[in-house]
Amino acid sequence: MSPTSPIASTDSADQWHPSYASHPDEVHVLIAGLDPVAATAALLLADAGVCLINVTDPGPVTAQDTATGPYPPALEGSPREYALRKLLRNRWPRCVPLSAPELFCSSVIPSATMLRSASVTGPIPQDLTVVDLAASPDAHLPTITVVTDGSVSLTWPLVPWYRRPCRECIVNAVRDARKVLRDQPPLDPDPVATAHSPALTTLTRVITASGIAVDLLGQSLNPQNTDMQNTWDAESPGTITLRYGLHQSTLTPRADCLCALDG
Ligand SMILES: [Zn+2]
Repeated sequence: MSPTSPIASTDSADQWHPSYASHPDEVHVLIAGLDPVAATAALLLADAGVCLINVTDPGPVTAQDTATGPYPPALEGSPREYALRKLLRNRWPRCVPLSAPELFCSSVIPSATMLRSASVTGPIPQDLTVVDLAASPDAHLPTITVVTDGSVSLTWPLVPWYRRPCRECIVNAVRDARKVLRDQPPLDPDPVATAHSPALTTLTRVITASGIAVDLLGQSLNPQNTDMQNTWDAESPGTITLRYGLHQSTLTPRADCLCALDG
């Protein structure tokens, strides 16, 4: 840790606790839910120099996972967390990933962030698979939530963990996204025809994971983000980014859920 890295204040339970690192190898990232989008984000973060990656998802690598990457077919059936640790170590020998969320550092240590990933694994939005943690992380841990629905991804803005969208909010957003794409198909369709859904799924995965990696590293490495506690507005927490191949648009989180008030 750099002696110049600030330790965020813990004065107020309601205060956003930003902190930053001076180098990627000081960045701590907890990733819960290791579908292909989250796994790709982990690999990109490792490419960018992040070594302290804590990944958790005991579910198996599925045929769908291996069809669109980054998990290789040889690892199908293995626990996702085992498979991803193996991929990370093979790619970057100095990266020593853990699968121990209970050991993840507090948000007051520069610099810790979290990616929470879920996916729709059946035909209806309620077929949502979310990896639950045995114990909640620090309530103020800066957290990004992403959900994958076939070739579509939805990414929530970076918020403290306790402001994360609840399951019902995620299901509602998936329903909204399906309606938007059905009623108002993108005017600028992707060069890849929609009939080629595995290719579109792959493009969405890579583009979404890249955006997440940028946002997590930006939060961790940009000292100006320490001002976020003064600019982050609980009343207007931002928009959900919808990606479908190269198409990108936004959804507005529903205001009628009280999950944002959960402590
Ligand atoms: Zn909610």
